[in-house]
Amino acid sequence: MFESERCNLCGDCLVKCQWMDVGLDKAVTWKKAMHAGEYSPALDQCITCYACNEICPQDANPYDLIAELQEKHCSLIPEESVAATEKQYIFSGELKNLPDAETIMTTCVFGKNEAALIQGELYDIPRVGGKPYFCWILFSHMGVESIQRKHAGEFVNRLAMTGAKEIVCFHDDCYAMLVKLAPDYGIEVPFKPVHLAEYLTDFLKKNKDRIKPLNFDVAYQRPCASRHTPEKEHFIDELFELTGVRRVERKYDRENALCCAGVKFLLGMGDSAPDQEKNVLDAKESGAKAMVYLCPMCRNTLSGSALKHNLPFIFIGDIARMAIGEIEVPV
Ligand code: SF4
Ligand code: SF4
Repeated sequence: MFESERCNLCGDCLVKCQWMDVGLDKAVTWKKAMHAGEYSPALDQCITCYACNEICPQDANPYDLIAELQEKHCSLIPEESVAATEKQYIFSGELKNLPDAETIMTTCVFGKNEAALIQGELYDIPRVGGKPYFCWILFSHMGVESIQRKHAGEFVNRLAMTGAKEIVCFHDDCYAMLVKLAPDYGIEVPFKPVHLAEYLTDFLKKNKDRIKPLNFDVAYQRPCASRHTPEKEHFIDELFELTGVRRVERKYDRENALCCAGVKFLLGMGDSAPDQEKNVLDAKESGAKAMVYLCPMCRNTLSGSALKHNLPFIFIGDIARMAIGEIEVPV
């Protein structure tokens, strides 16, 4: 929720936004309009990367105000498309084949399409996934955060019905929903959400004697949902350290990460190819021999450009699998 009393109108949220070109005076004018609930051009230019929530030095959650006003003043996606997409993900049946285990994994809606990523010893734990376990974060990217909010409780309740004490989130978005957004909506989460990087790190620590250090440099593609949960970022570094992978210093990483621009494309906000190109070139010029991704959407958006520049695009889970010799190293 936007905390207006915390905002000192410093303008950072718009001036530092990587998707609009706004000076301080204009930023303050636009901010004042939005504080009054009015339209500002920022609403049409925001690609919903969530970065300003992390950037704001006052923790005022400026993106949350933008999300509220995008819904009030703009139609980023036509209403019929929003309604059709919502219908596509609504689940009204009964949950079947609930696992009986203290720790399980939820694969969101990626279980089938990303099956190649979710295999091997590391993923040998009971799983749930598919439509009933969709986390709904897609809808804030469509400019209709209220739909995300409306269905958040269903997502949490269905996971809670498994009775698991710990639920590992394959997708960063699910983790963001369980750790940040659902509690912000006043929804109790009665189990411990575990980030995939935490789970992989834990596995590697228990199997240290099996690790053969990979010894190459990578650029990390930090996904937009990670803006909601920056406190888990150390698990990514730990995972790289354990596997002998070096995370290069580059312009577009950590707080200055560049969203993959998949949403820009989805929203029809212009050509996203130059954004992808500058991201991949930044990785390449920083000495990386590969790019590592956490969110499959980042791969879908950036892998073409990475391929063009001879940079393998590797799933973070596959780094762990390579380190224990389960799959081959492509560099
Ligand atoms: S929301 Fe945060 S970053 Fe934006 S103007 Fe206010 S204090 Fe500055
Ligand atoms: S969410 Fe991203 S695109 Fe939107 S204003 Fe904030 S930083 Fe800019």
